[in-house]
Amino acid sequence: MDCIFCKIANGQIPSSKVYEDDKILAFHDINPEAKIHVLVIPKCHIQSVGELTEENSSIVAYIFEKIPAIATKAGITNGYRVITNCGPDACQSVLHLHFHILGGEQLPEHIR
Ligand code: AMP
Ligand code: ZN
Repeated sequence: MDCIFCKIANGQIPSSKVYEDDKILAFHDINPEAKIHVLVIPKCHIQSVGELTEENSSIVAYIFEKIPAIATKAGITNGYRVITNCGPDACQSVLHLHFHILGGEQLPEHIR
């Protein structure tokens, strides 16, 4: 499958890794939108939140269990925002489920 995040997950494309285990990978966003901007992905291909089901959704809880330690490891000390974009109206550009962790500075109060 021609999915850039699958290729990052299996090492075909290099990334600046923050955390990795058998199920998930966290790496620095190539085009950061905050002082610290990390992406967390499942290694299995799920297109977006829109493709979550009873069968595959446990990976989301697993990712969120790991996010506090990933944020700390990335150097975030004073809070962060977790975002996921789903589909065209949300400007999802990579069709492999990912969670943005944004922090390292004061973020704007409102996003839309
Ligand atoms: P989204 O717009 O929510 O789909 O987010 C996709 C994110 O992936 C963007 O913030 C991109 O900067 C980031 N991105 C795309 N390619 C790479 C890459 N090779 N390494 C790291 N981040 C990437
Ligand atoms: Zn993929």
